[in-house]
Amino acid sequence: MVESSSFRPMLNEDHLVIYLNYNNRSIVFNDEDQTVTVGAMVQLGEFNAFLDQYNLSWEVNFSAHSASIAGIVSTNAGGERSKAASQVAYFDLIGGDGKEYRLYSDLEQTHSMFPKLGTATQGLLGLITSITIHVKPRFKETLSAMVKIPYDQVNLFVDKLRDSPYLIACEMMDHKCIKEVLDRQDDGMTLLIKWGSVNTLNLESEFEGLVNSFPDYVESMMVSDSVSSEEALWKSRHDLSDTLRHVAKQKNMAYIGYDLGIPKDSLSRVINELNHYISSQGGHLFVFGHSMQSKTHYTLHCNYMMKKINPQLLPRFIKDELSDFDIHFSTEHGGCGEKSFNDILFVISQQELKDILVLTRQYDPNDLFRRNFKQLLEENIKS
Ligand SMILES: Cc1cc2nc3c(=O)[nH]c(=O)nc-3n(C[C@H](O)[C@H](O)[C@H](O)COP(=O)(O)OP(=O)(O)OC[C@H]3O[C@@H](n4cnc5c(N)ncnc54)[C@H](O)[C@@H]3O)c2cc1C
Repeated sequence: MVESSSFRPMLNEDHLVIYLNYNNRSIVFNDEDQTVTVGAMVQLGEFNAFLDQYNLSWEVNFSAHSASIAGIVSTNAGGERSKAASQVAYFDLIGGDGKEYRLYSDLEQTHSMFPKLGTATQGLLGLITSITIHVKPRFKETLSAMVKIPYDQVNLFVDKLRDSPYLIACEMMDHKCIKEVLDRQDDGMTLLIKWGSVNTLNLESEFEGLVNSFPDYVESMMVSDSVSSEEALWKSRHDLSDTLRHVAKQKNMAYIGYDLGIPKDSLSRVINELNHYISSQGGHLFVFGHSMQSKTHYTLHCNYMMKKINPQLLPRFIKDELSDFDIHFSTEHGGCGEKSFNDILFVISQQELKDILVLTRQYDPNDLFRRNFKQLLEENIKS
């Protein structure tokens, strides 16, 4: 299962590099507790293919089919419905101290800004060897809809949607995204909604409730009536990231992205502030992402195009002007890469930095894993 070798690199005589190729790709279904145990290197695509065979599904799914499950768990990655932490029963890890641990996720942590024990560990504590994940029966029927909602009504509308046990996805795209991906001049936020059931899907009371509470918006709602029309509705969402990159290139502009957690009840105000600020700097902001990963925050990509980009512009604005709102950074992709670490420095407290260092030192006392990151931590802790 494990190939390993060690060698001294030419550039630095002090450091020993250990090359480990840990190739555990086993996948086992545990019938009695409806979990699946996977080896660390199993890829998302392989895992999904296995689940298909058993008519099963899990709540974290996205386009990076070659991402390993260990990578997904380590970054607390998330799909339309949930973050990895909420779907992982536990994972096994060999700590930097050589001991074996079984770690349990913090079900409440819905961002990936910084590690906690068992959540978003970001390769800092040791080597994950296997992961046990909760799985569910696959949906037999699904139905999707697209609807445009004024920004200040989004929260009310999404809350109403979330009353339904059948709701499985509610993605958001702001009016600028819709202009680029569908060439439509809209105001407000477009929601892409999906409901599903393992039995027959009956949405009569859901639609009745929506019509009673939001008659004007529901009137213009587009609803799928076949598998192909459902796929067509979702195409805009799936094409969006590539489309925006392409548009930036065409406009000869640089493009940068931030994964923000925006408190639900402040969505409209925060988007408004961000839009004004980025426009005043000569840029174009695009907001899109997930509404269901967290109870308290929408996890949104806030990406902008500008002729020349200063990566500190947006984090600094958030720190200086939007500090009244509890905005999270790096809700996806993990906050422990170098760029995202610099971003979270704008919002993280000294105590939180110290807590991370204590945690990593406890499990990896000799700094075997991601030593450079621990140096970054130390450099940013004021004595
Ligand atoms: C096209 C694309 C789309 C994406 N879409 C989404 C999305 O919708 N939502 C989202 O949340 N993320 C998304 N991501 C990010 C993705 O979830 C992460 O990049 C993924 O977790 C990376 O997996 P990897 O195997 O490449 O891990 P790596 O990039 O190799 O590692 C990621 C982290 O995990 C650690 N790690 C990996 N394996 C182990 C192990 N065995 N033991 C201990 N630590 C380990 C590494 O040290 C590192 O810190 C996307 C990425 C791509 C490329």
